[in-house]
Amino acid sequence: MKKIIEEIKKQKRFLIISHENPDGDAVGSTLGLYFGLKKIKKEVVPVLPNKVPKIYSFLNGTKVIQNDFEGEFDVGIILDCADIGRVENLKKKLLKIQTLINIDHHPSNFLYAKFNYIDPKSSSTSELILKLLRRAKIEIDENIANALYTGLMTDTGGFRFPNTNLNTFKAATYLVKYGANPFYLSEMVYSMKPLRALRILGRALEKLRKENGVIYSILTIDDFKEFGAEEEDAEGVVEYLNKSNESNIAILFKQKENGSYKVSMRSKGNINVVNVALKYGGGGHINAAGFDVKGNPEEIIKDICRELKCE
Ligand code: 5GP
Ligand code: MN
Repeated sequence: MKKIIEEIKKQKRFLIISHENPDGDAVGSTLGLYFGLKKIKKEVVPVLPNKVPKIYSFLNGTKVIQNDFEGEFDVGIILDCADIGRVENLKKKLLKIQTLINIDHHPSNFLYAKFNYIDPKSSSTSELILKLLRRAKIEIDENIANALYTGLMTDTGGFRFPNTNLNTFKAATYLVKYGANPFYLSEMVYSMKPLRALRILGRALEKLRKENGVIYSILTIDDFKEFGAEEEDAEGVVEYLNKSNESNIAILFKQKENGSYKVSMRSKGNINVVNVALKYGGGGHINAAGFDVKGNPEEIIKDICRELKCE
């Protein structure tokens, strides 16, 4: 971290980027670092490969986020990406930047940058950005606090997942002290969903199946079209599939325009789903992982069950 701070202090023009289909941590850590670097008068361009999901667009700064970039940068800082491929078609341009810094909390991180700051014990990349800003003696203001708190809150499922620990609460306390508003943020993220998101949740629950101790559901393109919904509207659906007392593994398939599937897996206890995700070219954490795949969902379920030795 010391070297990263030295590099940040030394250089002038920064690109900050996070992963495709950005979640709360991707948006929160990008904005938190963006506002932090602006405070010390750096030139900063924040980028996400896709548009900011509507549920996070209330955060200050989201309008500045670009979906592509041009021009010269001294440093590219990649956030919450275990695999540099997760920046999608921006990878080629990103690799042209002389100094790359990789900040992440995924245990499956491939350490692809010149400077890698990876801490799998951290609840979120947002928590790591808070550490970095504090160590660099950059003052935390309300914009930074709200952005980083959103990342902490969403990556811990509202301070419930196994990655929630004393340090998470210490970070949250600090952020609240410097202006984060917990009730406002949880209302905006969890209670302001468009109706189509509830309808897609309903459809996923209606189509739920249980096989070999795995609960799964498949949302097709037609399901999304019927409600005018997009992939971002299904964020959080897999958490519902994981609420049953009859299974320890939940899997949601979300079909994309090109027919392939985005697969989200959740597990309980010491059932490790990240290795299966890695096998399919994805990644994640022990209890939450995902990947993209072409093929028949029923076959993929069978294969996952073989890998995880389901009952
Ligand atoms: P979700 O199921 O919510 O999309 O993702 C759960 C976890 O798995 C997150 O930590 C996310 O970063 C990771 N993940 C999901 N899909 C992919 C993927 O295609 N590649 C990699 N490397 N990680 C993924
Ligand atoms: Mn994260």
